[in-house]
Amino acid sequence: MDIILLGPPGAGKGTQAERLVTNRGMVQLSTGDMLRAAVAEGSAVGREAKAVMDSGALVSDAIVSALIGENLDRIETRGAIFDGFPRTLPQAEALDLLLAERGRKLAHVIELEVDEEALVERIGGRFSCGTCGAPYHDRFKLPKVDDQCDVCGGHAFRRRDDDNEQTVRRRLAEYHAKTQPILPFYAERGILRPVDGMASVETVAAAIDSILDG
Ligand code: ADP
Ligand code: ADP
Ligand code: ZN
Repeated sequence: MDIILLGPPGAGKGTQAERLVTNRGMVQLSTGDMLRAAVAEGSAVGREAKAVMDSGALVSDAIVSALIGENLDRIETRGAIFDGFPRTLPQAEALDLLLAERGRKLAHVIELEVDEEALVERIGGRFSCGTCGAPYHDRFKLPKVDDQCDVCGGHAFRRRDDDNEQTVRRRLAEYHAKTQPILPFYAERGILRPVDGMASVETVAAAIDSILDG
């Protein structure tokens, strides 16, 4: 079963994806993570993406669609969780094609609904494990043991360069202008499932589980 987690920056997509990977053996395909890996490697794509990401704008549809295509071929029959992709209508159309070519089909588009001030607060406190990428928050989700990752036991944590208030405002504006318009595309198809993303991580997770099991 392939699904999309859709929502503005900080809505909880990565947090919920990590849980689905652990509990259901699904595979998380995060274009943000793929782009950050390309930046860290210093590849041509990474060099092009870095400045765009730091500004809070969107990387080109061609680059992110190609990244998704490459990674889709590796996951075989396991269910995909698209996290942070698609973000524009051309990306949504590209995804349809990529899936159809591989005999796959979207089961659900889960929209995490959250209010804007909460997003700024969530992103301001966001950090992650430097080893496995598990997501944490200064107030809402600290590791169970101080300075030790719950998932892999690692001790190095990191914060993203683009998680500052100014860039977050730009990312939110991009979301409204370019990503929200794809909601009707999926609503018309009857696969859009809104979830209250303001609830606790556990409550949101339960709502997603009931959609996937329903
Ligand atoms: P967030 O956690 O805020 O939703 P991501 O990690 O998904 O952010 O993305 C970080 C940045 O990477 C975005 O601001 C954008 O510059 C770029 N990016 C990620 N996914 C896409 C995409 N599907 N299309 C265009 N740009 C993207
Ligand atoms: P996204 O991938 O949509 O950008 P994340 O999953 O990285 O969002 O979540 C952003 C921050 O908010 C992280 O620090 C995460 O720990 C925290 N967070 C995620 N979901 C919730 C929630 N339901 N309530 C409070 N904080 C949350
Ligand atoms: Zn870890």
